[in-house]
Amino acid sequence: MFIKIDGWMAKLRFSACHLIPNHHKCGRLHGHTYAVTVHIEGEQKNEFIIDFEELKQMVTNICDTLDHRVILARDDNRIRIHEDNKSVEMVVLQSNKRYVFPVEDVVLLPIPSVSAEELCQYINSLIASQLEDRDNIKSIMVQLDEGIGQGAGCTLELK
Ligand SMILES: [Zn+2]
Repeated sequence: MFIKIDGWMAKLRFSACHLIPNHHKCGRLHGHTYAVTVHIEGEQKNEFIIDFEELKQMVTNICDTLDHRVILARDDNRIRIHEDNKSVEMVVLQSNKRYVFPVEDVVLLPIPSVSAEELCQYINSLIASQLEDRDNIKSIMVQLDEGIGQGAGCTLELK
């Protein structure tokens, strides 16, 4: 059995900007509205697999950390990042493009790319880390839509 929360319908969304280094089109800074859809598979425990409200709050908190931010991938070897207490500088190595952002506008994530695939795995790992002690939950599937009609999905098994 599973439960599902649709990110568009349940307003589990965030807007953010990023770029994919050296991509012919996505290499320019641009934005998306993202939606996080979650399926949780498991057994009912006291009626529920997980309370919808609890799951929605958990995902909302994650979305809030990304909303209206510039998302940068700390582990992307195509860029070099330098940060001080005021700003974050990103240089795209191959093209020598240089961006400087106010530090409060940026979220630096421990991922190798800001692709929907990597962002999806990152979000799923945050959800999984909060649910890992639930012995009635088997797996978590997250789909991260990058606009309506396209997205990436991944499943994490909890046991
Ligand atoms: Zn994009």
